[in-house]
Amino acid sequence: MVKKYVVVSGGVISGIGKGIIASSTGLLLKTMGLKVTSIKIDPYLNIDAGTLSPLDHGEVFVLNDGGEVDLDLGNYERYLDVTLTRANNITTGKIYRDVIERERRGDYLGKTVQVVPHITDAIQDWIERVATIPVDDSGEEPDVCVIELGGTVGDIESAPFVEALRQFQFRVGHDNFALIHVSLVPTIGSVGEQKTKPTQASIRDLRGLGLSPDLIACRCEKTGLDEGIRDKISMFCHVPPSQVLAVRDCNSVYHVPELLREQGLIDYLWKRLNIEPTINISAGLKQKGQEMWKKWNQLTSAHERLLDTVTIALVGKYTNLQDSYASVVKALEHASLNCHKKLVIRWIEASDLEPETRTSNPVKYHEAWTDLCSAQGILVPGGFGGRGVEGKIAAAKWAREQKVPYLGICLGLQIAVIEFARNVCGMPDADSAELNENTTEPVVVFMPEISKTHLGGTMRLGIRPTVFQANTEQSKIRRLYGGAESVEERHRHRYEINPEKIGAFEAKGLRFVGKDETGQRMEIVEHADHPFFLGVQYHPEYLTRPLKPSPPFMGLILAASGDLDAHLNKL
Ligand code: GLN
Repeated sequence: MVKKYVVVSGGVISGIGKGIIASSTGLLLKTMGLKVTSIKIDPYLNIDAGTLSPLDHGEVFVLNDGGEVDLDLGNYERYLDVTLTRANNITTGKIYRDVIERERRGDYLGKTVQVVPHITDAIQDWIERVATIPVDDSGEEPDVCVIELGGTVGDIESAPFVEALRQFQFRVGHDNFALIHVSLVPTIGSVGEQKTKPTQASIRDLRGLGLSPDLIACRCEKTGLDEGIRDKISMFCHVPPSQVLAVRDCNSVYHVPELLREQGLIDYLWKRLNIEPTINISAGLKQKGQEMWKKWNQLTSAHERLLDTVTIALVGKYTNLQDSYASVVKALEHASLNCHKKLVIRWIEASDLEPETRTSNPVKYHEAWTDLCSAQGILVPGGFGGRGVEGKIAAAKWAREQKVPYLGICLGLQIAVIEFARNVCGMPDADSAELNENTTEPVVVFMPEISKTHLGGTMRLGIRPTVFQANTEQSKIRRLYGGAESVEERHRHRYEINPEKIGAFEAKGLRFVGKDETGQRMEIVEHADHPFFLGVQYHPEYLTRPLKPSPPFMGLILAASGDLDAHLNKL
């Protein structure tokens, strides 16, 4: 089977939207009827993203197979509506582990094991292997693989990957390999002149390493590339002007695919990769692609016209780095778009809600509480460690008592149950073993099967079923899931609600409407006597799609807008 590869590399600085450009390219190819997969290369030594701080790298994304990966994989899954595997995220650590294991087995007996050719071969083999893994229920091999090379070209870390890709272009042939290089064209000085030098330098680096860009995607300010700048980049970087794309700042990232399409990205790749006739695209897939593009456009243009707002307080720990909640934000956006509401997120640092802040920084404390009290809905996302927990408990208490819609995810569920135990069930010392190992009232306990010595990849991870319990037909969340008997969502946790305390909580009105298949592990908790108070042990944000929003998030947005009951009655 002919396989096409589109590599997206980056220059100048990181964080200029390479991931969005790569996923938008994949989306556009998919709307033409192609089957698209993707690979993200992260040149760090960690085996996976599971042990990285969300403060440095943004959220850890979790896949069906339990892989803890870079958040860009989330973009690919959402844009392309596909399911990826942990192998779709390549790190230096994974490649070296693979090669070293083989060396220990004796596979290279007699040879000196080196970066070139052993590491570079391992990278190419890995790419070719992963590019054949089906990404949807059809079980068919993808036609195109979009490969995003993390970091910036020229870094020490990415050198083996750049060399591997240089060799790879010859391994797969010119017709099957195209390169998009994402660069930055900054605007400098009081007259606002656009500068091309950083782009020139980064293209020079790229060429020096043996890779030539087919397209240069220039990130620039809102107005696009100034007169003459495209020609200048074209001249200095040896590409025709039509292959210099202006990717200006947009109101929303959902507009990027259209921005690339109108500058001829698809037409160019079509010819450059000789896609037809080498790939036989079925009429059915072509039509499906067209429909997908139509719906995508409807959604993005609706986004521009939204007037009614819905305000959600997000009570978290890393609120100064919004990437640490990337999927939660996407899930909120998708749900709001589908409810025709413009989303306003109030970022609240949980510790600002705590009594200590009242004395140390009263202004911050009052601002945080004003934000919380005036929000139409409250969300407590997943998290680890003790900082801010008391603030989150205070937020859950407010939501319960004031009947403000609440969604607690993972730690957010555990918080809601601790709050209920302390303030309703007469257990003032209720706590989580994660935060207070010696608590006398352990409401949240360590799961027996989890490793206490190894932190990487040892949580309860990946997709698992949640079974709705008997007599839960009227449960709001069950109805939002379309009345399903069970649902499958992705997990990432080490602690769980203490099964021994369930009786005491249920006696006071908390309902554990969903449990795992053994009935021992609590998955969904709901307050019966509340407009919408939901806690889920899993992370529904990992499976949200723009056109298929996640039900718990739909519930929160609908309830916050006062539309939930009307919506449920229509189902
Ligand atoms: N820290 C909690 C646990 O390990 C919650 C995890 C999470 O929110 N992802 O169970």
